Amino acid sequence: MSEDKPHQNLAIIGHVDHGKSTLVGRLLYETGSVPEHVIEQHKEEAEEKGKGGFEFAYVMDNLAEERERGVTIDIAHQEFDTDEYYFTIVDCPGHRDFVKNMITGASQADNAVLVVAADDGVAPQTQEHVFLARTLGINELIVGVNKMDIVDYKESTYKEVVSEVKDLLKQVQFNTDDAEFIPISAFEGDNIAERSDNTDWYDGEILLEALNNLEAPEPPTDADLRLPIQDVYTISGIGTVPVGRVETGLLNTGDNVSFQPSDVGGEVKTIEMHHEEVPQAEPGDNVGFNVRGIGKDDIRRGDVCGPADDPPSVAETFTAQIVVMQHPSVITDGYTPVFHAHTAQVACTIESIDAKIDPSSGEVAEENPDFIQSGDAAKVTVRPQKPLSIEPASEIPELGSFAIRDMGQTIAAGQVLSVNE
Ligand code: GDP
Repeated sequence: MSEDKPHQNLAIIGHVDHGKSTLVGRLLYETGSVPEHVIEQHKEEAEEKGKGGFEFAYVMDNLAEERERGVTIDIAHQEFDTDEYYFTIVDCPGHRDFVKNMITGASQADNAVLVVAADDGVAPQTQEHVFLARTLGINELIVGVNKMDIVDYKESTYKEVVSEVKDLLKQVQFNTDDAEFIPISAFEGDNIAERSDNTDWYDGEILLEALNNLEAPEPPTDADLRLPIQDVYTISGIGTVPVGRVETGLLNTGDNVSFQPSDVGGEVKTIEMHHEEVPQAEPGDNVGFNVRGIGKDDIRRGDVCGPADDPPSVAETFTAQIVVMQHPSVITDGYTPVFHAHTAQVACTIESIDAKIDPSSGEVAEENPDFIQSGDAAKVTVRPQKPLSIEPASEIPELGSFAIRDMGQTIAAGQVLSVNE
């Protein structure tokens, strides 16, 4: 696979059993991207049985096996490429630490394919995942209306499902112009890599075309610099070297920078990337850099580096919209779990639950509710227990989302609406 194509992180979302894994298998199979070890294993078995050929069913068995071992849907990446892009399939919602990985950037999805089974239509997790996708900032959505083979490739059934999904998208204020609908069968291979004769009433793009024609993710170089610090090292001959990934803006040698909330700063002396000195780093670059006058104990993981004349904001309190995914009981005012935002992990108190939001309409369902629980969305006011640098998602999306963790699991995800410094 070529490394010189732009990368896209793709999330495959949708209700359980609607065909997400089958679609992943189909995409890997059709693009010749089935992992080497699977091919090797298959060759051995085929030779033993005296059979040739490389069947799609075999890929599926293998993916199923791996999934049972907990391997597949991990960020042990599934990858494939089209003419334009190199795609990495990221973990999907409901599996392990999807939300946390997405927020901390380990598997931030650029776009998503929503799988909806034609024989079932919009189901509870379809709704949940669409809401989550919107909360987490996915912009373009490809909707695969799957299992068309089961409904005899009927155009009327396809249209019904499309209209159901459009209603759902409108309810969560997702622009339906940014969604593309395709009738597919992941299992039979219809409209995935080749146009299917079974759907002669459909003349839109097939799935791999639609993926290939997604817009390239725009690196946010024009925004202010935001570089969350992952680690701080001391390197002999250089001094203190904070390390992290540039989320937005540019980092140049000679720039005057500020670290917040540690509230120290200075001039950037050197920037190193892949063991080489560079004059500039851009969004997506992982860098180590050195700032005049900054010692190892002056800054820490969770600090955000930004321009000295427009430093990252530090929240006294902030308001946010959250979605509760799994909480064993109820969340009330005063609850203090750990918030994970970029590289920071800070205990924060939910001071007040200001309104319950109807996840299927985005509207206020109840002002000042006594509690919220799994499945609820709400507007809340939050007070970090230690200084936390965070930004409104509307201004800097990369630094405006967070995951809420408690008892070893991700219980909620959210986006910052406003920051009170
Ligand atoms: P997931 O839970 O969303 O990952 O769903 P799976 O990929 O595991 O699929 C659930 C079941 O639906 C499996 O038995 C698949 O073989 C079947 N399936 C998936 N896609 C199709 C399809 O396009 N047509 C048919 N007939 N069955 C499908």
